[in-house]
Amino acid sequence: MTQAALHGLRRLVIKIGSALLIDETGHVDKTWLENLAEDIALLRNDGHQVLVVSSGAVAIGGRILGFSARRVRLEELQAAAAAGQVRLVHAYQEALGKQKIDAAQILLTPDDTEVRRRFLNARNTLEKLLEYGVVPVINENDTVATEELKYGDNDRLAARVAQIVMADGLILLSDVDGLYTADPQAHASAKHIPIVDTLTDELFVMAGKPNSEFGSGGMRTKLLAAGIATHAGCTTIIASGDCERPLNALANDGKCTVFESSASPAAARKQWLAGILEVRGELRLDVGAAAALRNGKSLLPVGIVQIVGTFRRGDAVTLVDASGSELGRGLAAYASDEANAILGCRSDQIEAKLGYAGRSVMVHRDDLVLFPETQ
Ligand code: GLU
Repeated sequence: MTQAALHGLRRLVIKIGSALLIDETGHVDKTWLENLAEDIALLRNDGHQVLVVSSGAVAIGGRILGFSARRVRLEELQAAAAAGQVRLVHAYQEALGKQKIDAAQILLTPDDTEVRRRFLNARNTLEKLLEYGVVPVINENDTVATEELKYGDNDRLAARVAQIVMADGLILLSDVDGLYTADPQAHASAKHIPIVDTLTDELFVMAGKPNSEFGSGGMRTKLLAAGIATHAGCTTIIASGDCERPLNALANDGKCTVFESSASPAAARKQWLAGILEVRGELRLDVGAAAALRNGKSLLPVGIVQIVGTFRRGDAVTLVDASGSELGRGLAAYASDEANAILGCRSDQIEAKLGYAGRSVMVHRDDLVLFPETQ
């Protein structure tokens, strides 16, 4: 495939709406999904990494349990999600399997992406899956999520996923081929907007209200998702999946709206880290560790000589070099009591000290920002 819109976007999160995947009878449209899997295989052959965020569990489960996916009580929705999710992910497993691609199910709740300690866990698992060449198939954990503790829609979930894995591109596939100046179904004069460089209030007014039957999304939730993702350095694309080979169409200059991001995911992450206000502790590093960080490496326990303060996993800590000057800051992968136990240890000694196989890094390189060197 040649990727006009996707050019330069290495890591892609692809969000699939229920309306595309689930037919009116509550069954997965297997042909559509198999074509999508073929597109995913082509993208991977072209060097892209792919994560999928898919809706559809509630729509499938509603059919299995015998009720319409809308206007049912919370526990019924949760039961529908539980019954539907297993079929949904099985359908992905089969379709991707035909392309010799392994799928893995990840169910997330907002805490997994919004709370720093938990976000490190979700990120590490997703990174590992990508490292092993597996396609994560992600959905909200609807069986335990309640109204007040929900992403609410999978557009937002997909944007959060894009943010935590530092994706370069988020593709929101649904039944619309982009943003219009007005609702194109109601106004013949509505004009398609191919590129958005700034999300303005006016665009939200143009987006109007949600309209699809099963999904909770609409243009508004897509714009909100685009806001989260572009802020995290991730280009966002709204495109129609209502065709046989949606990603292929997109790759061949298909109609879409591209929301450009001004920074790269790495730059946006560093800016976010630099902006975290409460710093809970301090890690004093040896000369070797400080030099390794400047060379783009992660901070290992072996390079730490002293730990100051009490902090939890995911808290921000200051990194200080041997002469006492602040190098930067990062998110601690260990709480301070564990960090004290493994300070100065090589990675292969961590398990013996902690009594369980821990992580090899103290601060991952994606989770740290270094201040410019002073002369
Ligand atoms: N998580 C829901 C499902 O799988 C869909 C939410 C949405 O449509 O945004 O059915």
